[in-house]
Amino acid sequence: MTAAATTSDTAAQTSGKERRERPSTFALILNNRLAAAGLVVLGLIVLAALAAPILPLADPNATDPANRLAPLLTPGHLFGTDALGRDILSRLVWGTRVSLLVGFSASLIAALFGSAIGLVAGYAGGRTDQILMRLIDLMMAFPYILLALAIVAILGPGLINALYAIAIVNVPFFARNIRGITVGLARREFVDAARLSGKGPLTILGSDILPNVLPTIVITLSTTVGWMILETAGLSFLGLGAQPPQADLGSMLGDGRKVMFTAPTISLVPGLMIFLIVMSINLIGDGIRDALDPRLRSGALARPAFRTKVAKGRRMPGEDIGEEPQPLEGGSSHHSPLPADDSGNRHPPLPAGISPTRGEIDKTETSAAADLPPCGGSEGRARPVARPGVRQGRGGGQGTNPDDKSVSPVLAVRGLETEFRIGRSVYHASNGVDLTIRPGECLGLVGESGSGKSVTAMSLMGLVPSPPGVIAGGRIGFKGEDLADAPDGRIRALRGGAVSHVFQDPLATLHPLFAVGDQVVEAIRAHQPLGRKAAAEKARDLLDLVRIPNAARRMKALPHELSGGLRQRVSIAIALANDPDLIIADEPTTALDVTVQAEVLRLLDELRRERRTAVLFITHDFGVVSEIADKVAVMYAGRIVETGKTAEILARPAHPYTRMLIDCVPVMGEPERRLDAVPGRPPAVNRLPPGCAFADRCPRVRPDCREGEIELEPKRGSLEARCLYPLGPGEALSGEADPREARP
Ligand code: SF4
Repeated sequence: MTAAATTSDTAAQTSGKERRERPSTFALILNNRLAAAGLVVLGLIVLAALAAPILPLADPNATDPANRLAPLLTPGHLFGTDALGRDILSRLVWGTRVSLLVGFSASLIAALFGSAIGLVAGYAGGRTDQILMRLIDLMMAFPYILLALAIVAILGPGLINALYAIAIVNVPFFARNIRGITVGLARREFVDAARLSGKGPLTILGSDILPNVLPTIVITLSTTVGWMILETAGLSFLGLGAQPPQADLGSMLGDGRKVMFTAPTISLVPGLMIFLIVMSINLIGDGIRDALDPRLRSGALARPAFRTKVAKGRRMPGEDIGEEPQPLEGGSSHHSPLPADDSGNRHPPLPAGISPTRGEIDKTETSAAADLPPCGGSEGRARPVARPGVRQGRGGGQGTNPDDKSVSPVLAVRGLETEFRIGRSVYHASNGVDLTIRPGECLGLVGESGSGKSVTAMSLMGLVPSPPGVIAGGRIGFKGEDLADAPDGRIRALRGGAVSHVFQDPLATLHPLFAVGDQVVEAIRAHQPLGRKAAAEKARDLLDLVRIPNAARRMKALPHELSGGLRQRVSIAIALANDPDLIIADEPTTALDVTVQAEVLRLLDELRRERRTAVLFITHDFGVVSEIADKVAVMYAGRIVETGKTAEILARPAHPYTRMLIDCVPVMGEPERRLDAVPGRPPAVNRLPPGCAFADRCPRVRPDCREGEIELEPKRGSLEARCLYPLGPGEALSGEADPREARP
């Protein structure tokens, strides 16, 4: 058997085991207390209704005029008798059976036809959509109950006809709902991919679109069943549904109406039963919706918490988390707030080239790219990557001096452990992470997808959704304060204020319906007591600062009217709106093309140097890191495996994983070089192997790599690595001299 086959078998076994460990849909519904209560109540009612023929009940239609209107708890008639002396308990059980049957049948018929119409109309679009939807509109234009009455009047009174009437009037609700969702799905990329694969429309509807709308159908169904039972009862109440002597809940209500004041229990008993059925079905419907939503299923949105939960017995590291800044000579501190200007800004005066003054800058995106200076400025042998218009190897501490320990860190994370607790599995997404960033410094957090970079960054401000996310250990030191212990009010004040975020996809993070200027104004006014006019001026200056051409005009633009690069600049302007001490940039250039990427990187780099803002820059791309980061921390399977100055890491990394990541990046001027992918896959973070987590993929692995904990230890220069057999200077992965070192 090949290694690949073994790996794939192991992966299949792993994912199978993971699936088994995840709670089932039924278990999730039971986890929801209200849904479980609804399930118990409805279960008992259905059980009683199904068992009606074998229960020792009186004949529901047998009259006994001598015993009419008997009260509750009369011997032989637990719930009393009605105006004809019929046993109410017996009629209740048999009537519930009929009402449930009619309600569920009508719902299923409506769901089947309504969903089919919605799917076809939404997917086909054009004339088919127009015709089907106008017919649906026609039905919806009639008053709802009037339409049901008209249908029963045409078909004639009777339970089955009432069922048809209720089903028909509910078809438009399903059709409208499902059509709306299908229209959105039909234009998604995965549907385009299905079309390109040669699938026909019916196959696409069945295999690609239906599974996506099924949760909505089930949810709509579960919420309309109760309503349809009420409607059937309403028709029977009016004498158009169940015909005497047959009992259903509606006809029982109608019987009770005539003696409402003399014997209220006759209508109260079926009324209470309708209430219990409808309530329990609605509770179950909510539970089913939560269980079927993949995000709710994972617990991500189960009970959206304001911030990530911090475990009570949080494991605490011994190290400190930085201190409050010490005053420098002259009374100022290393990163004390700068004096505020008239608008409340705390940033230092800006150089002429990026003055925020209105109208001074009107550079286009391409002209900004053309201004980029030539490569250089790196220590060691920072390798150029094939990235047009991008400077190379600026890492090495131009923003601040990473060795200057006298400067208190802005961010000092120690032993951060963020876990996802899903069912019986615990996923160690961040597993004892240490990070330190000083004012004006940029730390690049690098690693493959799933290595824990984003979870680590989101943990800082408590943005990991809880449940299932939990901060199980460590300290999050921000200017000497442990944010894991900070009250919610403090976290709210810091978010978007002293700590801001720039995300990967600005189209997803900017509000699609508000002008970008308004969104910047909103960000400013959330933290600063500025009037609308002053905030608007500041917003325009910020858009100028991030080099958005014609900022005053662009203030009124909606996000979709801007290019990807301009949108990301707006996100950066929002991040800068309140003069943050720390910007967390989570792959902010991944969705951009290379020239725009270069501009955004340059902009971020200049802004942080001028404002002495610390930047945590998350990326999977070493080429991007070489542009902006002073220091690099490489993550693998939730742990930092190597850290050090950018230039040193790029030139001569110590950890084999870092070496392999760098070797994945194209190098300008080396077209003959093979780009080696890192073989294998990272381990599942809920079942980390003993010893080195990289052992299965490492060409230098030895038996002792798989034993015991491997610490992050100093290796050479500024490098620290979590490796027993690190690469020496100029050493290749094979252990021989690296041939690249011999090149000029
Ligand atoms: S500890 Fe061993 S297996 Fe892990 S990276 Fe170092 S050499 Fe490779």
